Amino acid sequence: MRHANIALFVPNIGCKNTCSFCDQRAITGKVNPPAPQDVRAAADRALETMGEAARGAEIAFFGGSFTAIDPEYRTSLLKAAYFYVEKGLFRGIRISTRPDAVDAEILSELKAYGVTAVELGAQSMRDEVLSANLRGHTAGQVRRAAEMIKSTGFSLGLQMMTGLYLDDDAGAVYTAEEITKLSPDSVRIYPTVLFKGTYLEMLFRKGIYRPQTLEEAVRLCAGLLLRFHEKDIPVIRLGLHTIDRESYLDGPFHPAFRELCEGSIYFDRAVSLLTRRNIPKGEVLLAVRRGEISKMIGQRRINIEKLSRRGYNCKISEDVSIKKYEICLLP
Ligand code: SF4
Repeated sequence: MRHANIALFVPNIGCKNTCSFCDQRAITGKVNPPAPQDVRAAADRALETMGEAARGAEIAFFGGSFTAIDPEYRTSLLKAAYFYVEKGLFRGIRISTRPDAVDAEILSELKAYGVTAVELGAQSMRDEVLSANLRGHTAGQVRRAAEMIKSTGFSLGLQMMTGLYLDDDAGAVYTAEEITKLSPDSVRIYPTVLFKGTYLEMLFRKGIYRPQTLEEAVRLCAGLLLRFHEKDIPVIRLGLHTIDRESYLDGPFHPAFRELCEGSIYFDRAVSLLTRRNIPKGEVLLAVRRGEISKMIGQRRINIEKLSRRGYNCKISEDVSIKKYEICLLP
């Protein structure tokens, strides 16, 4: 399912602490928190441009800790959005927040104002990683908040990160497994990107933190994507959508990060298929699910070129009956 959102960015005005990777202090100075009239303007604009399709979209308050912001301000935003949801013009409201800023009272307020989905920034399920990255909450709080969100009837979204300070590939796999146990309706995966002015920058300058390379992040995130896919948990975002180039220092940002991961999955699967079946080098016909050819080919035909270097001249076709990420060998 495609997730169309009318996104409103609420900077981290609700956060008591600043996480190691968070550059929102810098952003907060530049971005005005939205006022109720901004919510109305965004919704009206979306109705004009999307028409009927807006009924399937959510009004989303992203960026900070929505449930931790000033209650009066929060209610004013919710009321502005609910005006449209109540009339059936949008599917619902999506908010993102911190696991330690969720309680029964707040959830019942969200419910009353038509919120349908709550996303939690879990980031890691290892307490030592959470603490080293100044998250200010524990994995236990993620579990408790997730259970409350589910039992109150919201769609649950969980966000995780890779490449945090003191984390490693095994830690990320553990986090993905623990997140899976919480049965989220959607997941977002963000490789850590290093921004100026963050605690991670200080650790980086001291030589005690190194961000993942793009290659490392792609390899790890491709594996995580497959894990969630096998459990039927949609990964609705993989990698940051965009970054402030002025603040960017280092780390695995790529505007088509998801495509790189999916290309990597297809390449590994093609190699494994050709090796397992002992396919002689030369011309090979492969088929993938309809709509997946470009991922099989890879960005700038990288997969086709890498397979060619291994001696395989691959031709790719598509078939609607093949499952996503599966590759069939044609006679
Ligand atoms: S909870 Fe989110 S918005 Fe708040 S400081 Fe941490 S990363 Fe930034």
